[in-house]
Amino acid sequence: MSLIEYRDSGIFLPKLNFWLDPQGPVENAWLSHAHSDHARGIHGQVWGTPETLTLYQMRWPGAPAGIPMNFGEPAEFSGARLTAYPAGHILGAAQLLIEFEGRRTVYTGDFKLRPPLCGATAQVVPCDHLIIESTFGLPIYHFLSREQAAARIATFARECLADGTVPVFLGYPLGRGQEIAHVLCQAGIPTAVHGAIARYIPVYETAGFTFPGWTPYEAGRIAGQALVVVPGMRSIFEALECRIAYVSGWAALGNARARSGAEELIPYSDHASFDELIETVEASGAREVDLVHGYTEALAQILQARGIDAAARGRGRVMEADA
Ligand SMILES: [Zn+2]
Repeated sequence: MSLIEYRDSGIFLPKLNFWLDPQGPVENAWLSHAHSDHARGIHGQVWGTPETLTLYQMRWPGAPAGIPMNFGEPAEFSGARLTAYPAGHILGAAQLLIEFEGRRTVYTGDFKLRPPLCGATAQVVPCDHLIIESTFGLPIYHFLSREQAAARIATFARECLADGTVPVFLGYPLGRGQEIAHVLCQAGIPTAVHGAIARYIPVYETAGFTFPGWTPYEAGRIAGQALVVVPGMRSIFEALECRIAYVSGWAALGNARARSGAEELIPYSDHASFDELIETVEASGAREVDLVHGYTEALAQILQARGIDAAARGRGRVMEADA
């Protein structure tokens, strides 16, 4: 029996009766982070970082409280040693190191190496077997650093306000939305935040990220401030002749302007760029690499050409929801 099995409902460790980010209801689940394509309130027992479990409870009221895993503090389960490490994705996102029968397996979950705007910076965890996402696993994807992205966000907002127009930032409800609001507030720019994003601000504040002066978004009171709203509201602000910014990994694509309808494209992602994926794989020392999510087939071929034993696993679909 191998340690890892790839099943329709997720990544399964049969010897441990333990699942990694399962889609269907299971007894024991590791939640790498609180995005809804990874964490669903349908499981028996769940493990995750304290921030992930708090966000999970907010998204799935009534779900089990879960077993908190602090970064770098090992826990025993079914004869395995489990340790969480930062994944650099959204607040609380973690990689999991599984040490079992003398072998080190790392599951990154959603991941990036660049320091995030909010959250802990990832580290490469040495291992024998690496299971890594490949959302942006093609060499066309290059992203701004945290500092570059923050500067672009603040500059666009200031230019719009100086021209008497309203800057609107489209952000996903968990992760990007809070990061954009944090940058704008830190820059001293008046910022109104939509409720779907603002509801998680207290969790970020508990983790030490401040949002000085933010106000709740109210329709009809938009002048003189930057807005942080969810992507589904884009057409409202287009009709109001606001100026729209799109902060996403997909902004790196040539057709992003047409796809997003945004005027300002800021290529910043919570996922690793192609170069970061290669760097992580090589620095991990893994002799076996499995790719899940995104451009799995393409990246597997690229890694194989570099002499790495890489395989495309899982669904291989491109997740746009949180990129
Ligand atoms: Zn995610």
